[in-house]
Amino acid sequence: MSDRLGLIHSEILVCSKCELYKGRTRAVPGEGPDNARIMFVGEGPGQNEDEQGRPFVGAAGKFLTELIESIGLKRTDVFITNIVKCRPPNNRAPRKPEVEACNPYLHSQIGLIKPRIICPLGTPAIITLIGDEYSASRSHGKPITKGDSTIFPMYHPAAALYDASLKETIFRDFQILKQLLGKDSSASVNPSDASEPKGRKQTLEKWA
Ligand code: URA
Ligand code: SF4
Repeated sequence: MSDRLGLIHSEILVCSKCELYKGRTRAVPGEGPDNARIMFVGEGPGQNEDEQGRPFVGAAGKFLTELIESIGLKRTDVFITNIVKCRPPNNRAPRKPEVEACNPYLHSQIGLIKPRIICPLGTPAIITLIGDEYSASRSHGKPITKGDSTIFPMYHPAAALYDASLKETIFRDFQILKQLLGKDSSASVNPSDASEPKGRKQTLEKWA
């Protein structure tokens, strides 16, 4: 990891800029190559992530890994993080002041990694990256150009996991992502580097 990214991650580990630090076991900065061409941005750590200090390691993470592999990439090719780096109590949605307090970390990560394609997963991440008027149901699967990056909104894998039609949709959106990557051959990792506790219905409502 680059020194500057490492520095940000060590700041996150001891951060107390919002209330969420009080309930965390470990902060979850994110993981992946510092020259990743794709970045996935979820909502926030859940219980497993909080315990392990790594993003997307529970059921949703297993499904995300499957989706990444469905387009011929490995999980270790991409950078994975969240809009808040500490677990909200009982997996509630992160609140606006928390997202705002944490946002500089996400933007520093984006600024250093410079991913070609950023995929916000689910409505809270989509709103954070492209604005309040967007949602997963309305904007998934449609690339948006923002500065040097393409933002490609998707459903949250936790929402799609147990819903057959959303599952089909998210697999299809990954195929679109694959096509976007194909148009930009630098979009995978640089060649030199290529080497839930909540009820299902609530989960679906939260991320749709
Ligand atoms: N859900 C998220 O939004 N992020 C994680 O890291 C895990 C599950
Ligand atoms: Fe700091 Fe972000 Fe954790 Fe809040 S969620 S304490 S801003 S790292």
